[in-house]
Amino acid sequence: MGCPLSQDFRTLSLWHETTPDAWTPRPALPGDREADVAIVGAGFTGLWTALYLARADPSLRIAVLEAETAGFGASGRNGGWCSALFPSSLESLAKRSSRADALALHAAMRHSVDEVMEAAAAEGIDAHIAKGGTVSLARTDPQLARARSEVDHARRWGRGEDELRLLDAHEASAVLAGTHLRGATYTPDCAAIHPGRLVRGLADAVVRRGVALYEQTPATAITPGQVTTQHGIVRAERVIRATEGYTRTLDGQRRRLVPVYSLIIATEPLSDEVWEQIGLRRRETFSDHRHLIIYGQRTADDRLVFGGRGAPYHFGSRIRDSYDRVPRVFEDLHETLVDLFPVVKDAAITHRWGGALGISRDWTASVGHDRATGLGWAGGYVGDGVTTTNLAGRTLADLVLGHDTELTRLPWVGHRSRSWEPEPLRWLGINAGLRGMTWADHEEERTGRQSVLAKVVSPFVH
Ligand SMILES: Cc1cc2nc3c(=O)[nH]c(=O)nc-3n(C[C@H](O)[C@H](O)[C@H](O)COP(=O)(O)OP(=O)(O)OC[C@H]3O[C@@H](n4cnc5c(N)ncnc54)[C@H](O)[C@@H]3O)c2cc1C
Repeated sequence: MGCPLSQDFRTLSLWHETTPDAWTPRPALPGDREADVAIVGAGFTGLWTALYLARADPSLRIAVLEAETAGFGASGRNGGWCSALFPSSLESLAKRSSRADALALHAAMRHSVDEVMEAAAAEGIDAHIAKGGTVSLARTDPQLARARSEVDHARRWGRGEDELRLLDAHEASAVLAGTHLRGATYTPDCAAIHPGRLVRGLADAVVRRGVALYEQTPATAITPGQVTTQHGIVRAERVIRATEGYTRTLDGQRRRLVPVYSLIIATEPLSDEVWEQIGLRRRETFSDHRHLIIYGQRTADDRLVFGGRGAPYHFGSRIRDSYDRVPRVFEDLHETLVDLFPVVKDAAITHRWGGALGISRDWTASVGHDRATGLGWAGGYVGDGVTTTNLAGRTLADLVLGHDTELTRLPWVGHRSRSWEPEPLRWLGINAGLRGMTWADHEEERTGRQSVLAKVVSPFVH
């Protein structure tokens, strides 16, 4: 946070710049107000929740309070993977519920990819959506071993070739011709999107439906029945926290979710000849099987957008504009991109940006609503929030309205992670994990053998 109110939001990312929108903030809260439901945060979580609530009961008085402007946070800045990924293994979900419940959540995520596409179409939002699936390359022996075991794992859970399949090197390079290909996994369950267009379209859609969206209104505290802001108090029977990576800005919530940074670069639009050599003809999103996450997409205007973790966690869960732009991380990303596709070596990098995503102590996303206090929340998506926020929004709408549905029975509903450790333990643990994953990838590239280091540090980063 800390974006000066005079900042031109269009400079935040490629998406902000290329959304046909002036990004002029709507008026702030004009003083104390009453509502039926108050939602803090106008990213995907807050806006999907407002949309499904307004659709279900147009008479509800819904107020959304946003510190900056809708889409300021991760929702406006992400890699644009609208995927079925959920940041928790089927095993750990099943341990808390049952095998059937874990699979039900997985099925709900797959369905949510289509729901995002349908809801965008229904609201007249052109978010440049293309459902081409995801190809994850294997470029070393250890990566290929991980690709194989991911497919074996899927089969053990009854997930067939239609959900995840192994590609040999030849098949993989027909989809995405990266260097050193040994094979890949492919899933059809992902759409590439322009997140700026989606989040701004959602903001317009909820306002059209009568939701009061107050921007440049930072909330300082959420308590049962009220949200306290710098501009007044909103009293509401139901209050939803939708602040994800920024949750530490609220009183008493400092150790609930840590903000971890992910950074992205984008090339200029690439020529047809270059794309002929790379692939991604159906705008498949892409990654590989290294430990420290990388992700990319081909945009509708033929750029390569490429991001990854690797930025440090900042002591005290601090959030600063300067943390979005770390030259060393941008250089590493560029190096990795050129290593994957040498043909883009001379392409100009036109945009560099980043943002904070939220991680809970047990690395599990959750959604919930306590009927006794009226307080609800969703978040902790660990970088898989584009689709999960849609599921969260529909689930929160059902919970707030008191409906018992398939969604409200999914095993992430009501889950509560313990808090993160106090500093300096938090800083030491998270950064050791992030560093360890980077070292493990270097070691595997150098030796061609599976790194034991990854196993040692994984408790900190999973
Ligand atoms: C660089 C990057 C790349 C990513 N790539 C992907 C991807 O490709 N696919 C994927 O699935 N996920 C991805 N993610 C994660 C995904 O973007 C997030 O999980 C998702 O957008 C979270 O949405 P949200 O609405 O919960 O949070 P946010 O979008 O962060 O919204 C929170 C909002 O709350 C506001 N706010 C914060 N504090 C206050 C306060 N005190 N008062 C009022 N308002 C407040 C903020 O200004 C912000 O607008 C990525 C994240 C980042 C940062």
